[in-house]
Amino acid sequence: MEYIEHPKLKALKAGNEVWEEWNDCKILQRHFCKSQKSKDELEVADAAVFLARDKHNKSQWHFAHVWLADKEEVSDGEAEEIGEVMSSFATIIHFCPYCGVDLNTEKDEV
Ligand SMILES: [Zn+2]
Repeated sequence: MEYIEHPKLKALKAGNEVWEEWNDCKILQRHFCKSQKSKDELEVADAAVFLARDKHNKSQWHFAHVWLADKEEVSDGEAEEIGEVMSSFATIIHFCPYCGVDLNTEKDEV
């Protein structure tokens, strides 16, 4: 299956605002794997690893993923336009699921 993404959204996702909105949190720091060429060319554009405060005011690393509608979902009638949010989730992590780095050692680089 071909994954076609809304080009504007891809650029937006390198920023924090959309992730804060989708996950209703305040991002303190983003983690970008060392292998990534630039923040505008994320290897995995539909996921983010970030440090955010939880409701107990404790800062924790999160892995968040969002599923955006592509051409297929639009033609199936599941979404009205490409880039529409189909679903999203976030979970607490300690290691980056992509590069395996211990995220808690990155915290003080803020
Ligand atoms: Zn990483």
